[in-house]
Amino acid sequence: MELSDLARRLGSGRLFHAYIITGADAETRERAGNLIARAAVCQAERGVPCGVCRDCVKAERGIHPDIETVRREKDAAFHNVEAMRALRARAAAVPNEARRGVHIIAEADLMNAQAQNAMLKVLEEPPSHAVFILLADNPEMLLETVRSRCETVVLTPEEAVLEEKLVDTAAALTEAYLRGDDLGLVKAVRALEKLSKPESFDLVTALRREALRRSGELTPARRKKLLDTLDAADRMVFANIKGNVLGGYLLAALCGAE
Ligand SMILES: [Zn+2]
Repeated sequence: MELSDLARRLGSGRLFHAYIITGADAETRERAGNLIARAAVCQAERGVPCGVCRDCVKAERGIHPDIETVRREKDAAFHNVEAMRALRARAAAVPNEARRGVHIIAEADLMNAQAQNAMLKVLEEPPSHAVFILLADNPEMLLETVRSRCETVVLTPEEAVLEEKLVDTAAALTEAYLRGDDLGLVKAVRALEKLSKPESFDLVTALRREALRRSGELTPARRKKLLDTLDAADRMVFANIKGNVLGGYLLAALCGAE
């Protein structure tokens, strides 16, 4: 599935204790993991992550005390068993602020056998407040017993057919930015006012494609500004921001020449 599908699915509020995120590239897998983490700590009952509660805001800024990402030690080929035991101890503790504690394991397929067995023990009897997210390029390297206890999310690269009106809006917005045409930007952004949350998500995808396609037409500084703006827009849609807010942000960020 695509990230946008995952976002829609999470919105219903149903959450599993453990996930394996695979498919696509490492960056997309991390984004998917972060999205689930936000949904897990969000205070809202539905439409998670809401993007506005205290937990969402902290998660968004990467400073939520109940979300951790465990990474392989530098220079180590695998996650070692000590790291997984330490994780187990932390997961057993009651979360500091949110209703759940989220533990993301990057490159989870790079756990040695001992580490996987330690992980398995956690998954067999997961603390009720804990969510584990295993990011894995090669999930077949995980023990079957580990895999069977996780909900597997297979991400597809984002190449969905986007709605024509979204593609048109993205093209108009990019064109106006390329020409330094502020009035054109204002006009293009007006089309965003009525967008639903999933549509906002797809619009940013369309914008990124268009920006990459035409990046050769921009000076390095203008290109960087556009891509940075799209990164921020991406974070906003992950936080479930509506089209009108997104439009206002894009306008403020992109209007005006250097
Ligand atoms: Zn929230």
